[in-house]
Amino acid sequence: MTVITETHLRAEMLKGTLSNPYFISHQHRLTPAARDFLRDRGIKIEVMGSNSIQNIVQTKEWRIPVGVSNRHVHLSPHDVEVLFGKGYELTPYRPLSQPGQFAAEETVTLVGPKGILSRVRVLGPARELTQVEISRTDGFTLGIHPPVRLSGSIEGTPGITLVGKVGSITISQGVIVAKNHVHMSPDDAKEFKVKDGDRLMVQAISDRPVVFPEVVVRVNERFTLDFHIDTDEANAANLRTGDFVKVIGKNGELFRARA
Ligand SMILES: [Zn+2]
Repeated sequence: MTVITETHLRAEMLKGTLSNPYFISHQHRLTPAARDFLRDRGIKIEVMGSNSIQNIVQTKEWRIPVGVSNRHVHLSPHDVEVLFGKGYELTPYRPLSQPGQFAAEETVTLVGPKGILSRVRVLGPARELTQVEISRTDGFTLGIHPPVRLSGSIEGTPGITLVGKVGSITISQGVIVAKNHVHMSPDDAKEFKVKDGDRLMVQAISDRPVVFPEVVVRVNERFTLDFHIDTDEANAANLRTGDFVKVIGKNGELFRARA
């Protein structure tokens, strides 16, 4: 164990090597005076080391279940009729984790400039705007490269052609790569000490412990706790639906060890 004193920190400051945050290993200890010295100068302490993540997580570990979203489309009532017929309504096939949402029996074929993807699941119920959510990998198949966006934010995104059982439609915008996000109820938000729009830093509990540092929090009475990622992110982190991530920080800051 190495003890870091205020005198040592003053010497570093004079040499111009005092960084902010001030990095220490988990074997380092700061004297109370050294801690005060850093705090008075607004310098944060960052604990580093092979198992630093373990060290800086709060005493209680917060876990969130993972929901992997495969490519899918949301359709407006109008586009449901164009693709499947006049007066047609989507048929629920299986419920999704968020109450009221379902995977429909209906699928569409996506036609891009470079290629097609068939049997792409339609999610219900119908929404105001038609939106297509694909992975970056799907984009290479189709030949389109949409930006990463939260659902509903489709301004300036590329379009695509959707082919259904009886008709087809070409949208001029609405294709996105979904930005990862966490759904939670107001009670969960209280537990996690976050509000709608905050950003959580989470780490995969897997043999590829990837960190997702900017996960947008969505709070709603109707939401169930779930971390939504696409198939590219899931593969990169070796995660499947039902696995877990742990919360390691929020709004750009890692949680720190309790002194
Ligand atoms: Zn979601």
